[in-house]
Amino acid sequence: MLQKKFLCKDFEAAENAIGQISGILSENSYRSALVTFYETGLSKKESQALLDLIKGLDHPGLKTAGISIAIIAELLPEGTGILLNLILTEEADIEVVQVPCMPGEENEAIQKLRDRMNTRDNIRAVEFLISNMRLNTTMIMERTMEGYEDAVLFGTATTRNLTQRISAVESENAVELEQVSPEMLNYEFVAGEELISDDFVAVLFSGEKLKVRGNYALGWKPIGRRFPLELGPRPLKGETVVTAINNLPAVDIYREYLGVYPDSYFISNICEFPFVVERDGINICAIPLEQGKDGELYFMMTLHPDERLRFSFASHDEVLHASRASLEDMEAFAPEALFLTLCGNRLNYLKEDASLEWNGFGKFAPEFVLMHGAGELYYYNRNGGILNSAHLAIGMRESEEIQNKVISEHPTVESLRRGRTLSLSDRMSTFLDKITSELKEVATEAQDANRAKSVFLSHMSHEIRTPINAIIGMDEMILKESKDKDILDYADSIRSAGSNLLGIVNDILDFSKIEAGKISIVPTEYELISVIKDMSNVVRLRAKDKGLKVRLDIDKNLPATMFGDSARIKQVISNLLTNAVKYTETGVVTFIMQRVAEGTPADSDEYNTACPDDEKPERSVRIRVTIKDTGIGIRPEDMDRLFNEYERFDEKRNLAIEGTGLGLSITKELLELMGSRLTVNSVYGEGSEFGFELMQGIVDDETIGDTRGRLKKKHDTKKRVSFTAEDARILVVDDTKVNLAIVTNLLKRTRIVIDTAGSGEEALALVQKNAYDVIFLDHCMPNMSGPETLKKMNELENNLSAGAPVISLTSNSSQNAKEEYINAGYKDYLEKPILPDALEDMLFYYIPPEKIRTLPIEDL
Ligand code: ADP
Repeated sequence: MLQKKFLCKDFEAAENAIGQISGILSENSYRSALVTFYETGLSKKESQALLDLIKGLDHPGLKTAGISIAIIAELLPEGTGILLNLILTEEADIEVVQVPCMPGEENEAIQKLRDRMNTRDNIRAVEFLISNMRLNTTMIMERTMEGYEDAVLFGTATTRNLTQRISAVESENAVELEQVSPEMLNYEFVAGEELISDDFVAVLFSGEKLKVRGNYALGWKPIGRRFPLELGPRPLKGETVVTAINNLPAVDIYREYLGVYPDSYFISNICEFPFVVERDGINICAIPLEQGKDGELYFMMTLHPDERLRFSFASHDEVLHASRASLEDMEAFAPEALFLTLCGNRLNYLKEDASLEWNGFGKFAPEFVLMHGAGELYYYNRNGGILNSAHLAIGMRESEEIQNKVISEHPTVESLRRGRTLSLSDRMSTFLDKITSELKEVATEAQDANRAKSVFLSHMSHEIRTPINAIIGMDEMILKESKDKDILDYADSIRSAGSNLLGIVNDILDFSKIEAGKISIVPTEYELISVIKDMSNVVRLRAKDKGLKVRLDIDKNLPATMFGDSARIKQVISNLLTNAVKYTETGVVTFIMQRVAEGTPADSDEYNTACPDDEKPERSVRIRVTIKDTGIGIRPEDMDRLFNEYERFDEKRNLAIEGTGLGLSITKELLELMGSRLTVNSVYGEGSEFGFELMQGIVDDETIGDTRGRLKKKHDTKKRVSFTAEDARILVVDDTKVNLAIVTNLLKRTRIVIDTAGSGEEALALVQKNAYDVIFLDHCMPNMSGPETLKKMNELENNLSAGAPVISLTSNSSQNAKEEYINAGYKDYLEKPILPDALEDMLFYYIPPEKIRTLPIEDL
């Protein structure tokens, strides 16, 4: 393969070069010949004349192609002229396909092109020359290359008017964009057999011996947050219009991060800070083509609504190192023809260093072609697209690899930068790079420390819970056994302080779990009425003590059965109701629940990501929960700090009110996990209103109806049967001795035979000796945990208690506990602190009925 290039300052020089090309064609034998011209600065007439001249060369099999481009970098400083490139092959075939294609006709065009491709064997590379930016180029690239995964697609699009406008704006005596004269705007075309401005041209390179290497280099590094996107319908200009970035009109992101306003200098002010999207682990830059009048941004490439954009930045060093790596790899490949497609943005950015990006290639491929586009086309092995800021090198070779090749000496990037004053932006970017990496280190350290704190908090709260449970359990025994009124009063105070303390510890545990990302939303079907009943009990009980009124306003049209994480919803509502009562001295607490909108199946992702698709109900509904109070309110200046953990306000006023300042941050985080957001309105001295909207699944059309009658009923006056069971025998396993004593003592009256074990090992020994009716097994034990003990127990050969229900004793108030325990093989679970009624209820249920003797009914 032979490559020869001619850099011509004007038309005359090009005529001359064409004469030389004719000579080369006559002197050499070849299979295929291709002359491609890249021009900038010619009129339409001259371009046509140039094409005619090339076509006029009377050589068999000669193919032509061409494109108008923005700049010919090797002819800088003017950058205008003509670059002619001649390729001769020994065995490979080159075919130029001019593909008729108007916007909207892409599918037919792709089919035509693929029909041509299918007639050829061994297609190794396809060069695309595109002139119409309204075509869906990404789709054309992707579909054309289906089944040609080993072949490299490369090329460029003519976007020279755009770049010309930018450079006009950028030049010293900057002209306003609107003032760019029509003469400065050139005729844009690509050429195959003729000049065309709508269709596109594909050059097919095929051959058994043809080898192609494509290298993609960038050098810009993503930095900062990942911004969510909102996209508008497919625009006429470019492939994507982004209407919002990070929930703001798209252009505003530049004002926020670069201090750049959407004026006529906009693009030239932002192009060195491309956005980056990550696709299959590869960073691809995206620079807007233009801004729209409503703050939207037009992009040449296709962006997808679920993609995230990040800013990126570069230092000269990094950019040059990236292209240097590509150069070294290409030299090792030893190309006989080389095409470099570089983004104009690299020129902009590197300024006087720009030529360092391509000079080195001349050492081993002196005849390489260099194109500067505003969108580099590259697609290989199902990855790529329209790129920005990229450095693409495409090498081709027909002959066998040369053994023991001499690799040229390239000056180091560092040495190229010595001995001159470097530009401020160059030094700034290196500085920013270094400082950012230091900040990252600090952030990582802080994250580690924070993680250690969360782990510590979660261990602490676990540890604290064990003695609290013992205190509350023992206190329950006093309450049960003592007849002395004073003692009962004391014990009652312990009960209420104990349960307060337990609440605080549980909050800390929840909070540290949220921080560690260990809480997930587990949706199930639930009856709304039971949530409302529980909540109404929470608020009525507390409000009664303070003489507050409670008003419930439940929408009749709410679905009766919904699908969501009811335990977490209850936790959220109960936090808000508790606060409303806590921070209100007189007046009313109002709890409102409304059905506000119907959802579509797509919305169901919002309320649930954890659930397999086939379990999600098809339909969903948006509900709104509002909790109003007539309390002390929140000062406007405190609003922003409302969700800061451990923060409480108005300390003087609130001194007497118990609290940790964790409730609202937990509430906010839980709502976010459920795809919702907490809203607050408050007037200091008058009252507050907290609320949120939530997407829930609906199971059927049944609605909850009028709830007033059902909720007014007082607390369920549950009748429970009291019993004895002398013949029953149970085993209680817990490493905390006090817990064993609590269970034994609480059950004294039932006369059940109780064995205790202080460890999993002891328990295993006992079940081989005795047949138990029920086994209580502590969850957290040193050496052998509850689940481990259970597993071993089930594997025992002579387990006399096989089949007995094993119940987990747990302080894990985790809301999804039940499911977790059942999955682990337990029959049920009992929460600590162990309360007498719950314990007896459970035994009444699990001990075989023939062993139970009921006592006269007790009204509790
Ligand atoms: P805690 O109530 O444990 O202090 P929270 O996180 O629940 O913690 O609330 C944080 C702070 O927000 C409270 O200390 C209080 O100052 C304020 N606050 C919360 N709810 C209300 C409310 N309904 N009315 C007035 N102030 C409130």
